[in-house]
Amino acid sequence: MIVTRFAPSPTGYLHLGHAFAAITAAQAGKRFLVRIEDIDTTRCRPQFEAAIFEDLAWFGLDWERPVLRQSERFDAYRAALAKLQEQALLYPCFCTRAEIAAEIARASEAPHGPEGPVYPGTCRHLSTEQRQARITSGAPYALRLDSQKAAFIAGALTFEEQGVGPKDEHGVITVDPLLFGDVVLARKETSASYHLSVAVDDAFQGVTLVTRGNDLFSATHIQRVLQTLLGLPAPAYAHHKLILDENGKKFSKRDSAVTLRDLRANGVTPDQIKARLFG
Ligand code: GLU
Repeated sequence: MIVTRFAPSPTGYLHLGHAFAAITAAQAGKRFLVRIEDIDTTRCRPQFEAAIFEDLAWFGLDWERPVLRQSERFDAYRAALAKLQEQALLYPCFCTRAEIAAEIARASEAPHGPEGPVYPGTCRHLSTEQRQARITSGAPYALRLDSQKAAFIAGALTFEEQGVGPKDEHGVITVDPLLFGDVVLARKETSASYHLSVAVDDAFQGVTLVTRGNDLFSATHIQRVLQTLLGLPAPAYAHHKLILDENGKKFSKRDSAVTLRDLRANGVTPDQIKARLFG
């Protein structure tokens, strides 16, 4: 049975891109779930969460209850981190953003990932004693995945792309486990990263087909690695093209003129929006 989900972060009002993603997910799934991705508690607001449900209902969409909220799942993310920790796949990183930038500037060549230059691995080389001393001194740290080790343990991986990536990728995609480098999986302020929480929750909710915008296509590489290291099943993926505004630019949450609520306030109907998105 195909189980899909729409997983917005309540950091703003939904726009046309979200409508496309939600409708696509609802149509593709025999079961359709909504998941509120609110781990970044500093940016998420209850009024945006309430608006998500209202806007989805306005489109006539129906989803299963109860809705999973990631802010209630920190125990599960901690358990996943512990599982990675047991495999010695994590290390504490004490670098500030400025230190990382300086280190990258010093390096003759810095590999680039989807989120910019990848972490140069400075703290990977600390000894156990050095780590312990810095933790004991109260220095804040993030937990990073040792990507080389993760690649070795995970082995060769692929994922099934039923939609299209940004470069028209489709079919069986070979995973590049080093694409994001030693990615951060937890920080002091937020004890789980997007990649970790999504990998854990897609499996927890039994999602079999992840439908989402193809700006997240590359994230699938690291999410597949995490699923494997955590012993979780792999869903299939159907990434879709991004919805662009009249200027050919991606809709952004800051672009308040094009929220679904504004369109609605201006008398636009759900059918008109569907015609524009899918017509
Ligand atoms: N929460 C993410 C967002 O709002 C989407 C996550 C996903 O679909 O994997 O961009």
